[in-house]
Amino acid sequence: MKVYISVDIEGIAGITHWDEAEKNHADWQEFREIMTREANAAIVGAISAGATDIYVKDAHDSGRNLITTMLPRGCTIIREWSGHPYSMIQELDESFDALVMIGWHAHMGSEENALAHTMNTRTHMVKLNGKPASEFTLFVNAAATLGVPTVFVSGDEALMREVESTNPNIARLAVKRGVGASTISMSPRTAQNEIRTGVNLALRAKKDKCLVTVPEHNVLEITYASPTLAYEKSFYPGVKYVGDRTNRIETTNFFDVMRALRFIK
Ligand SMILES: [Zn+2]
Repeated sequence: MKVYISVDIEGIAGITHWDEAEKNHADWQEFREIMTREANAAIVGAISAGATDIYVKDAHDSGRNLITTMLPRGCTIIREWSGHPYSMIQELDESFDALVMIGWHAHMGSEENALAHTMNTRTHMVKLNGKPASEFTLFVNAAATLGVPTVFVSGDEALMREVESTNPNIARLAVKRGVGASTISMSPRTAQNEIRTGVNLALRAKKDKCLVTVPEHNVLEITYASPTLAYEKSFYPGVKYVGDRTNRIETTNFFDVMRALRFIK
């Protein structure tokens, strides 16, 4: 069994403030370690479910957060960003049996995770087919275009509601919820135990029922924090400026959504 594990930081246990997510800030050290331990728990869970080939993507910011010496032997680690539009799931292809998301978070504009965003913090809102899109929305579909089901997601409670409404068969673990600028979280050790068990069970269960149906028609809308950015990005092929700092692109090919995002976000 071949498994891909994509690890972000804004949805790990306990993380609350941007200082804790930003490399070069002293607070980041503690949280990169928690991120690594959550990745580790997912890897161990996958191995005990029978995974023989495991790819781990460091999918936060610089792509250089995981403490690689703490990861178990036998996994393949992807760091930094190649520039491929599948960024957070780079190297995923049809040969994988399942995708696992660890430490993922709610969409830009969510009031339930002070660190919520979609792709970066320059966008004010990203919508897919009229609904606010999280990174989960985008990548669960990107993976599905390759026939790879997303079987387990951990992160904040607001994201879990979105996962459930997308496909209730996907296993979910809310390690924390946000109230204003505060977080109410499981202890990191409890979260790690639950990730290990949850990933193990999800990979032993039927995976195909977790596959989502990729929309046939896609309307991607990006509202920028800055009006000058909307003007500049409106020159990307196929993009239309539609007012209110917002650009829109319509396509029947989901790869075009991801490719456009790569350049206009
Ligand atoms: Zn991140």
